[in-house]
Amino acid sequence: MATDVIGTVRDFVDAHVMPLEAPFLLHGFKAVEAELERVREVARGLGIFAPHLPEAMGGRGLPLTVVGEVSRVLGRTPLGHYALHMQAPDISNTELLLRWGSEAQRERWLAPLAKGAIRSCFSMTEPEHAGSNPVVMSTRADKVEGGWVLNGRKWFTSAADGAAFAVVMAVSDPEAERAHARASFFIVPTDTPGFSIVRNLPVMGEGLAVGEAGWASHAEVVYEDVRVGDEALLGARGAGFAMAQERLGPGRIHHAMRWIGIAERCLELMVARAASRELGPGLRLGHKDTVQGWIGRSWAELEAARLFVRQTAEAMEHEGQKGARLAVSGVKLLAAGMLDRVMDRALQVHGALGMTDLLPIAFWYRHERAARIYDGPDEVHEQVIARELLGRAGMPKPARAGA
Ligand SMILES: Cc1cc2nc3c(=O)[nH]c(=O)nc-3n(C[C@H](O)[C@H](O)[C@H](O)COP(=O)(O)OP(=O)(O)OC[C@H]3O[C@@H](n4cnc5c(N)ncnc54)[C@H](O)[C@@H]3O)c2cc1C
Repeated sequence: MATDVIGTVRDFVDAHVMPLEAPFLLHGFKAVEAELERVREVARGLGIFAPHLPEAMGGRGLPLTVVGEVSRVLGRTPLGHYALHMQAPDISNTELLLRWGSEAQRERWLAPLAKGAIRSCFSMTEPEHAGSNPVVMSTRADKVEGGWVLNGRKWFTSAADGAAFAVVMAVSDPEAERAHARASFFIVPTDTPGFSIVRNLPVMGEGLAVGEAGWASHAEVVYEDVRVGDEALLGARGAGFAMAQERLGPGRIHHAMRWIGIAERCLELMVARAASRELGPGLRLGHKDTVQGWIGRSWAELEAARLFVRQTAEAMEHEGQKGARLAVSGVKLLAAGMLDRVMDRALQVHGALGMTDLLPIAFWYRHERAARIYDGPDEVHEQVIARELLGRAGMPKPARAGA
């Protein structure tokens, strides 16, 4: 069954999503949005829309390993995940609502989100604090009669432009003894008075006005006296950090498999260009040792990352997220670094063409550099792994807190 799904997804991507790649790269998301809706309808007809969701919600209830393989196929083109409604941040918000949403929240938000009728965003990172340590956070949620009032400024709230609601992390219990028990998650409809998108952030030369970028955007958002009811609290009060961590586990596997797909496409493009580009009579780019070195190294690094991601997805299926914690950090670190190198080599092999948006390499080069930053920067994952191994070897915690 899994092979059938993956074969169907591959054919669907080739027939329906690949043709949208060039107009998207040249004219942006809005230019292809209407056509994407038609393509999503085709996916629904084929029974492959949102295949990660439980069958009761219109999906296929695929296990994480198969979802990973689907993600790999979709990663081959920038709109692949969107076409199947497996795009960030909706996929992770869906998981949040499935796991922690109340019945009313599921009905109001999860049902339309699962169908792809609305979009959502996730608002945690703040411009004035280190996102890699969100224990320090200024956004406040103050308890009032019958609800909460939120105040704060967030940024890199991806896909906020056009989203129906935001999942917002805010400090609800500043007096809690444990720093990790001070924040909670809230569902904030984006039409609530006081919610405003200040701007879509300019990212590596791209930055469209609010309303013009749609899903492919990262917003700066202000919450000013945003009043929501008690029913807006998602999960337990004070459980924000624990939920953010839970959200990240499968999310890192989704991202990593998407990166494998991107790297595979970059490698294919690199090989095709090296095999065909003539440096002179009888001499192709691919005849050069350096280029052969890049191709060989890229292939080996890609295969290693792919197998590591797969093995970690299996471990998560069998041992749960906690059991696979070290491997999840390892996968995030290894796959993001691999992607960075493969994209760079692919761009280099294409010379000036690589810098253009006539191919997807430059698009990924701009957007996926962030792979080494979001969901925990490289250095944090290195430390997670190292501390665990050093702890196992008996090294005590440092005497000075925060060292
Ligand atoms: C494309 C993109 C999309 C994003 N989408 C979202 C979103 O939808 N919602 C959301 O809330 N946030 C989002 N983010 C924000 C993301 O979560 C943060 O960028 C990330 O957590 C890092 O935080 P920061 O940018 O504040 O960097 P900082 O925390 O300031 O860190 C800066 C650098 O310091 C280094 N560093 C950090 N910690 C350590 C350490 N312990 N030891 C050594 N070095 C360290 C790393 O090199 C790191 O890159 C997105 C970011 C990007 C780039």
